Amino acid sequence: MGRRKSKRQAPTRRKAIEPLDQQFNCPFCNHEQSCEVKMDKGRNTAKISCRVCKEDFQTNINILYDPIDVYNDWIDACELAN
Ligand SMILES: [Zn+2]
Repeated sequence: MGRRKSKRQAPTRRKAIEPLDQQFNCPFCNHEQSCEVKMDKGRNTAKISCRVCKEDFQTNINILYDPIDVYNDWIDACELAN
């Protein structure tokens, strides 16, 4: 007895604990980090709006959506509109 396994230090990895980035660059006015995503998972919608040029966009989301997906939808919609 008395033989202990050497202490193993679990590597402290910080991943997925940090809050998801919810601020994105605006495709209209090109300000950085000016677009904020608001997820409304109760109603399956999300809205992203730019606090600089006031452009906004709303899209339907599902449980798998992350803010970046909302942003990507917006970019897609912009490209379709052009
Ligand atoms: Zn903008």
